[in-house]
Amino acid sequence: YYFITVVGTAATTYTLLQLLRNPQTKEKPPKRKQNVADLIGNTPMVKISSLSKLTGCEIYAKLELANPGGSAKDRVALAVIQDFEKKGLISPNSGDVVFEGTSGSTGISFAMLCNALGYTAHICLPDDTSNEKLQLLESYGAEIEKVKPASIVDPSQYVNAARRGAQALTDDPTTDARGVFADQFENDNNWRVHYRTTGPEIWEQMDHDLDYFVAGSGTGGTISGCSKFLREHDDSIKVVLADPQGSGMYNRIKYGVMYDSVEKEGTRRRHQVDTLIEGIGLNRVTHNFSQGEAYITDSERVTDEQAIRMARFLSSNDGLFVGSSTSINAVAATRIAQRSEKGTKIVLIACDSGTRHLSKFWKEALKVDSKITLEQVLH
Ligand code: PMP
Repeated sequence: YYFITVVGTAATTYTLLQLLRNPQTKEKPPKRKQNVADLIGNTPMVKISSLSKLTGCEIYAKLELANPGGSAKDRVALAVIQDFEKKGLISPNSGDVVFEGTSGSTGISFAMLCNALGYTAHICLPDDTSNEKLQLLESYGAEIEKVKPASIVDPSQYVNAARRGAQALTDDPTTDARGVFADQFENDNNWRVHYRTTGPEIWEQMDHDLDYFVAGSGTGGTISGCSKFLREHDDSIKVVLADPQGSGMYNRIKYGVMYDSVEKEGTRRRHQVDTLIEGIGLNRVTHNFSQGEAYITDSERVTDEQAIRMARFLSSNDGLFVGSSTSINAVAATRIAQRSEKGTKIVLIACDSGTRHLSKFWKEALKVDSKITLEQVLH
């Protein structure tokens, strides 16, 4: 046989030569798929070598960032759309519009899937969402409605704006198009899809053997669904909620109270407060969070500074380029490892990639010395 290739960086040529010498044929590639929706889920799990070596534990990342829309929210968006279709609330190519209030990831998943499945996505989001997420939404051609960051009790808040938009379209006598409100915070399809897919995948990938599961909470869907599944299969697994500064979930899990559960109308506060971290942190208990709260055993609060430094550390030492919420999980997992027996197995969720956070979170992370030590990260 002859292999013919052009040489640019020579990376392809090098890889081909390596493969010819060491054929890696034992694992079959995934079967071909019919559309982008079929690519969702079955995400890889990878060991974080640096943190594992330095702590003597085994720390793994469940790479939800490998979903086609770049985050775990692909699973949720698909489950929500399928549920609407089953209930006859929307049908493909009939002008129906899915409305969602989101600070980014969920909107991108809906934008991608709506295009693939014959719908329009209308995304309401706070105007301080990172540029990268906005550009992705624009690239998918979603309808975008930017609103001022506000508390959930404020009618202009993005979740409320999406709910209102869906109703207005459905009530509009001049069109047959229907609007549905995806409602990721309260919609049961959210935690259920993690119970049905993400949890079982983790269980299999860890060969039914893990000690800790670490995740943050935005809607609470991921931590609820995964922890419910994992603890039903092994109730000795500990579930740790990683929480950013300014969020009330840490105190809720630790002490049963939220120090900041009342938000006043008219404040320019968002549901996640005073943090650079996007996607997680709340000062209210959503339906999705409440579905799994009983399975959460502990919580770790992580500062923005620690998360920023950890992102740089993971990128420099492991080639893992992660977003802000993943970084929070990695700090929490490392702290757990440091106080655990050697060999303890810890799984964290790697929610999305750093590419979505280049202009905000990663702008700060780039200021950190790439040679930073783990002690300095955790300081
Ligand atoms: N990380 C990122 C980047 C997210 O966008 C989200 C969802 N908002 C989460 C973590 C948390 O996921 P969940 O909503 O399932 O709690």
